[in-house]
Amino acid sequence: MKLIDLLYPKRCPLCGEVTSEKIGYYPLCEKCNIKQKENRINYSGDGFFCVYKYNGKLRDAVLKYKYEGEIWLAEPFACMIINYIEQNYGFDSFDILAFVPVNDKRLSTRGYDQVYEIAKIISKKKKIRVEKFLKKKENYGDNAVDRKDRRQRISEDKYYFAGDKNLIYNKRVLLLDDIVTTGATLRDCKALLIENGARNVCTAVIASGRKDL
Ligand SMILES: [Zn+2]
Repeated sequence: MKLIDLLYPKRCPLCGEVTSEKIGYYPLCEKCNIKQKENRINYSGDGFFCVYKYNGKLRDAVLKYKYEGEIWLAEPFACMIINYIEQNYGFDSFDILAFVPVNDKRLSTRGYDQVYEIAKIISKKKKIRVEKFLKKKENYGDNAVDRKDRRQRISEDKYYFAGDKNLIYNKRVLLLDDIVTTGATLRDCKALLIENGARNVCTAVIASGRKDL
């Protein structure tokens, strides 16, 4: 056992119980793993990886991560996504990671970009480079549920490409976000990556708030 694990034991993101990377259902503890089975979303084969339904304790954990500074949750969330993709698809098909960013204003008040933190951990664990290809314009909330006047804004472009086109040219991209609601953000961001040279783009999120999944 590494010293760091003694000082900072790995904890289940849903209940806080000490857990271990050695167990098959990591990052969850056994109890939460059993409970979460009914919330798991089966992979449908279309290049969209979504681990769970967005409800209950998982939803609480995502909100703590996004709004209460519980940044340690980035690692278990990254592990959830990694495990899901490994079980359903494999990582060999990706050359580079991209992520849906928060805007600069949000970044400066919060101090971290929640999806970038997850992307950095996936990058390190799977040895795939992560790039800041996308930027979000000011005046947009994090996701559809945060935005009250969504209908007014929906026709405008919220994101733009701000990366190096040489780095994305002909690449197989895995685009990350935290949760999906309408799917519009992922669709828009995926289109931007394709327009700017990506060969193909798969998408991955922790959870979906869509009712039809
Ligand atoms: Zn637990």
